This record gives sequence, C-alpha cells and structure tokens, in this order.
Amino acid sequence: MSDLLAPLKTNLLKFWGYSEFRPLQAEAMSAVLEHRDSLVVLPTGGGKSLCFQAPAVTMDGCAIVISPLISLMKDQVDSLQSCGVEAGFLNSTQSMEERRQVRRDFQDGRLKLLYLAPERIRSEDGYRLLADGNISFFAIDEAHCVSMWGHDFRPEYRELRTIREHCPNVAIHAYTATATEQVRNDIAEQLNLQDPEMQVGSFDRPNLAYTVAKRGKGKGREQIFEVLNRYRKESGVIYCLSRKEVEALSTELNIAGFSARPYHAGLDADVRQKNQDAFINDRVKTIVATVAFGMGIDKSNVRYVIHAALPASLENYQQESGRAGRDGLPAECVLLYSGADVTLWQQRINDQPDTAQPHSRRLLTQLLGYCESPVCRHRSLVRYFGQDLEADCGTQCDRCTTEQVDVPDALIVAQKILSSIHRQGQRFGATYTVQVLRGIEDARIKENGHADLSTFGLLKDHSEDHVTRWVGQLAGQGFLVREGEYSVLKITPPGRKVLKGEAEVRLTLPAGGRRASSSAKKE
Ligand code: ADP
Ligand code: ZN
Repeated sequence: MSDLLAPLKTNLLKFWGYSEFRPLQAEAMSAVLEHRDSLVVLPTGGGKSLCFQAPAVTMDGCAIVISPLISLMKDQVDSLQSCGVEAGFLNSTQSMEERRQVRRDFQDGRLKLLYLAPERIRSEDGYRLLADGNISFFAIDEAHCVSMWGHDFRPEYRELRTIREHCPNVAIHAYTATATEQVRNDIAEQLNLQDPEMQVGSFDRPNLAYTVAKRGKGKGREQIFEVLNRYRKESGVIYCLSRKEVEALSTELNIAGFSARPYHAGLDADVRQKNQDAFINDRVKTIVATVAFGMGIDKSNVRYVIHAALPASLENYQQESGRAGRDGLPAECVLLYSGADVTLWQQRINDQPDTAQPHSRRLLTQLLGYCESPVCRHRSLVRYFGQDLEADCGTQCDRCTTEQVDVPDALIVAQKILSSIHRQGQRFGATYTVQVLRGIEDARIKENGHADLSTFGLLKDHSEDHVTRWVGQLAGQGFLVREGEYSVLKITPPGRKVLKGEAEVRLTLPAGGRRASSSAKKE
C-alpha cells in the first residue's frame, strides 16, 4: 500500500470502523487524492459512496457531491453525521434558515462534504456559493443520469458540464452502478472529464441466482406465488409494467394471504411513502411496483426480485434485479415474460421520438437475446457490460442448473426453421413461424397460402415451447435477427451458411431434470 493510502486507511477505521477496502475502492480513492478526474463503475452494493466520502474527510476543503434524489441525500448526510463526519445538504425541502446555516458552515470551512441537487448547482446562486468555499473535489453520484443512452436520463444533469468551466482547477469524479461502454464514454464526454482514471468493477453478482421463464398462459400468478411461498418471512420486490397491473397483483396477493403493498407514481406521495416505509421497516414483506420504485432505496435484505414482465433493457434489468441481495447473502432474481410483453414494448417504442426508436429496439432485441440464449445467465449479463467470466456460475442460474440436452440433428432442424422463414418471405415473427412449422391450420396462415409451403408441418412432432426455444437459440447464435416493430424474423449471412450446411449449429432442450440446484437448499 502506498503512503498516500495510509491516512485514508486510518480514517476508514476511525469514522466507519472498516479495516479493509472493497475491490477497487483503494484505486478509486487514490485518483481522488491525486486530483485526477475519474470515472468509477461499481455494481450496486459495491461501496461507491465510500470512494468519495473517505477521501473527502482526508483532504483539505469540502467535497461537493451531486446527487439526484433528495431523499437519498438526506439519508447519506444523516449516516455521515452519525459516523462523526461533518456533512450537510442543500435542497428545496429545507427552510431558509436551515439553508443559511448550511451555507455558513460551508463558507467557514466546517463541512467535509456538501450534497447538492444538480439543478441547484447550475444556477447563478450555486456558482456564487461555490466561489465562497474551499472545494476539494466534485463527486457526481449516479452519473449515468447524464447520458441519454442510460436508463435514467435526467436533463438537469446535462448542465453539470458547466462545472468544469466555473471551476477548472477542481477535479471531477463520476460514480455509477451501471454503464455499458457507450454510457461510460458518454459520461466522460458530457462531464468534460480530462483523461479520466477509469475504474470498472466486476459486474457479476455471484450471490444472485437468476431464472428466466416464459409466463405460462394463465399461469403467471402461479409462477409468482411459487417464488413467494418459498420466502414467506422475507422481503422482496415484484416489478410490473403498468400501474394497473401493480394494483391488480397487489390486491390478489393480499387476498391470497401474502403481505404486499403497491408502489407507483400514480399513488399519492404520502401513500407511496407509507408503503415504502412499511417495506423498508419489514412490516410488509412484498412491494409490488413499477420502475418508479427503487432508485436510492437502500434495503440490504431483499431476498428476491421478480419481474412479472419484461423490463425495458438489460441495463434496467441489472439495475432492478440488483436490488436483491445487497447484503451479499443468497438472493433470487426471476424474470417472467411472454410475447405480449414484446408487443407492449413495441407499442411504447412506437410512441417514442423517431430518433430514439432504433436504439430502444436494439435494447429490446438484446434483452430477448438474454432470455433465449442457452448461455449461463451470469456470463450473459457480464458480457453485456463488456466483461466475461472465467467459468460459468455452475449453480446460480437456470441455464447451469437445468440440464440441457443437445438436439442430435440440430443442423437439419435449424435448416427447416430457416427455410420456412425464407419461404414465408422473411415477413413474419416467431409465433407465426412456429405455427407454420407445426402445421397449425390457422386462418391467417391459409390466407397467406403458407399451408401449402413445403415447410408447413415439418416440425409437427415438436411442442410449441420447443420450437419457440429453437427459434430463440438461432437468434442467440446470430443466425437470424428480429427486425422492426413486429419483430419480423430475417436470416443473417451466417444463417444463409446454415441453409447451405456450411455452419455449425447447437440447439438444446431441457432434459427435464435439475442438476445440483441452488434453490433446493432453500426449500
Ligand atoms: P453503492 O453506493 O455502491 O451501492 P454503498 O456505498 O451504499 O454501495 O455501500 C454498500 C454497503 O457496503 C454499505 O453498507 C457500506 O457501508 C458498505 N461498505 C462500503 N465499503 C466498505 C468497506 N470497505 N468495508 C466494509 N463495508 C463497506
Ligand atoms: Zn450459470
């Protein structure tokens, strides 16, 4: 350990009682002490706050922390004060007198950290305030809010680039839990970071067990109850796509004897707060919510996160499912989805501005790729963030614990599927294609003359579930893509090689049995 870190270590113990750094914390803190700009990406629970809090107490002056949520700000400041760190915040919830006091403390050099909302700093008044104090550095928390490519863009974050102009000699450090390379580069550019030290932690969350399942027709509730039954005494979150669905599910859960409360932006603020508090204080076990729930909620003992439907993207999924198991103990993430979700998202995407649509469609395709890929879920997720694992998780995802058997004549099956797509003129989606291959006498199929295709009924001996899986696996291996708002299947150049018998294809089916299963322990 370098000399630079010695005083940090002393303070870590003195104020927080911690004797060791978490992975990457020491590196991230060194950049702060050396006054170089930095961008730190650590997963939720990785210990980002300490990366700027410990240097702030160690350095001269006061660190300015930009934080997007007022509730989050107060929690952080309260917890700092309880550790004996002089910290304050300025936001609209305070009285004039409170604000005046905090400003005086800052100007007189009594604070080590001052938390501000982004809209506060960009005003004239904000810069006047900054000019009156001795600033050690800027910390931008939840920095992905600055990027339109991220999952939580906030326009007021864009204004933060003016910090550099007003305080050219103060280093800027950005922190986020979730960032693809695109978002990462965008953060650095938007904040005008100079040659930033990049610290990207591992995105794997080894204590989370991932499962993805098709929502069975009329069985969605059963699948949810099955999970909840295993966690009667423990806390969890269920995400739904709409307020209506949140209300409906929450009501059903209570009728079925579970303790659940709804949470969405349509509820009165006080009801929302009451439900959230009841959940945080363990008076209510399950919160049923839209994505409005979560950011800044620091509850460590969440044992499961269920998505009752497809989230917006893999990045959202990582963020939302990541609220499980922040204490490092085993927790479960279950994603349930169906074709209806895809249709719904496509409608939502159609309502977006034209310029945003291609990006949103790509996110949806990547998410479906994750759902249908035969690869270990842990590996798929970290790959999405540009990382890889040394080995499959083995026990912590459905792909690793459900034994897959290879389909022996995979190439021939793949050729049947691809040639049907070709003969249908590459103008139809998966559901339709599966029906043609299974020889379903559907009115639309007859009307289109596809009951007369040579591929009609070629896979009639296989179930809808199996054929649908294979279509997904072909997409997962890059032999076909889903395009446009109707997810029309198109054959890619590698897919054409399959048709010519020039490429290797792997198709699998679940063997029906489970290997050494992680959930077996919990039952
Ligand atoms: P993040 O903001 O990355 O989600 P936090 O900063 O909230 O993570 O940290 C998560 C938890 O880990 C907190 O309870 C924090 O006090 C704890 N923690 C952070 N760093 C350390 C450390 N070096 N040793 C022990 N606990 C730590
Ligand atoms: Zn796995």
